Amino acid sequence: MKILLLIIYTMATALTFGQKTDNQMNSSINKTEAQWAVELSGDQYRVLRESGTEPPFTGKYVNFKEDGNYYCAACGAKLFSSSAKFDSGCGWPSFYDIADSDNVIQVTDSSFGIVRTEIKCARCGSHLGHVFNDGPKPTGLRYCINSISLDFKK
Ligand code: FE
Repeated sequence: MKILLLIIYTMATALTFGQKTDNQMNSSINKTEAQWAVELSGDQYRVLRESGTEPPFTGKYVNFKEDGNYYCAACGAKLFSSSAKFDSGCGWPSFYDIADSDNVIQVTDSSFGIVRTEIKCARCGSHLGHVFNDGPKPTGLRYCINSISLDFKK
């Protein structure tokens, strides 16, 4: 009887583990806003989860020039490479391309009576910034991103 219970327990554990692995593979993160509020700082929450904007020329990556990659500050998805970063003069870190297009989604944003294209993390849905058509070659795009939405790693 004990052996039978042990087998059932082992099978149930294996099934649960399998489901977790599947969820990780489709790589979408669905946390409640209450969970995000606990994990993120107040300023991070306001930008990432409430589509806020940090004041221009205040973010830690505006004039930052080290070589490496920028990841989502909420979930760690790879978003931008330093090789596509440029000085736009707009007051926010600017990139002319995305590092991994699977990790970024574009959404039409009509707030404040202006139509803009919002950039969000595809994995966790967090707000990153906006994209504009006045960037340099080769893309002609300017991804204008809040520093607080990013984590840099060498
Ligand atoms: Fe994310």
